[in-house]
Amino acid sequence: MSSQVGSAQQEQYAVSGYPSRLVGRRQVAEGTMAFQFERPRNFLFNAGQFVDLAPRGPRPDGSDGLTHTFSIVSSPLAEEIVMATRMRDTAFKRALSILPIGAEVRIKGPMGSFTLHKNVSRPAVFLAGGIGIAPFLSMLSYAAVNKPHPAISLFYANRYLEDAAFMDTLRELESSTENFRFVPTLTGGTTLTGDGRARLATSAQKCFPNMYPTCKARSAMSPGHQP
Ligand SMILES: Cc1cc2nc3c(=O)[nH]c(=O)nc-3n(C[C@H](O)[C@H](O)[C@H](O)COP(=O)(O)OP(=O)(O)OC[C@H]3O[C@@H](n4cnc5c(N)ncnc54)[C@H](O)[C@@H]3O)c2cc1C
Repeated sequence: MSSQVGSAQQEQYAVSGYPSRLVGRRQVAEGTMAFQFERPRNFLFNAGQFVDLAPRGPRPDGSDGLTHTFSIVSSPLAEEIVMATRMRDTAFKRALSILPIGAEVRIKGPMGSFTLHKNVSRPAVFLAGGIGIAPFLSMLSYAAVNKPHPAISLFYANRYLEDAAFMDTLRELESSTENFRFVPTLTGGTTLTGDGRARLATSAQKCFPNMYPTCKARSAMSPGHQP
């Protein structure tokens, strides 16, 4: 009986979103904030997946209200769910920035299949720009303790060092994780849509000359930037 109630509730959460609370926020780069949310019971996800976040919860009419999609930055083994975003002056981000600690939110998901493959003999090459680092950080945090994992190389492009989110965490992962190579790229003064992307590809090409042009590199550029 209680498991029936439990599974009915799970189904309900899949539709309306899991209730959660904001438990903290911190700056992770210039203009970029990470938000920590209480992890709902039974909320399972794979590293690399994303969710829909509704900071004001559902509206009385049952619709989502103000909702945005975010990759989960934290590991599936972590106690909290962390998301990160560039803070711009938009309706959603204004709502997020003034959300009091302890405020209830809704988290719908997890969704997506952008996850690290299991075949350890096939290396992974991650190309990330800006806040596009989010799903890779989740994968790397998980891979750090979930062995064996494929050899991973991460190329991470930002304009300036101050813009680069989670650099300390990435450096720590680099020193603590076997088979992980971290290549930060600073494009200073150029944009990711132009020269920045070209430079990121060039760095990867130099490191993996044999993989081009047939390279199966998985790429996640900053969500706000168009190719
Ligand atoms: C799978 C997935 C994962 C994602 N993960 C992340 C993540 O980890 N972190 C992250 O920050 N973002 C992520 N995003 C993107 C995120 O959902 C938001 O789209 C993004 O953060 C922009 O939100 P915003 O509030 O700044 O802009 P919004 O207000 O949502 O506007 C989006 C764009 O439309 C423009 N716009 C808005 N209104 C108008 C208008 N009336 N006329 C013309 N233009 C307009 C804005 O200038 C902006 O460029 C992800 C998206 C997807 C699909």
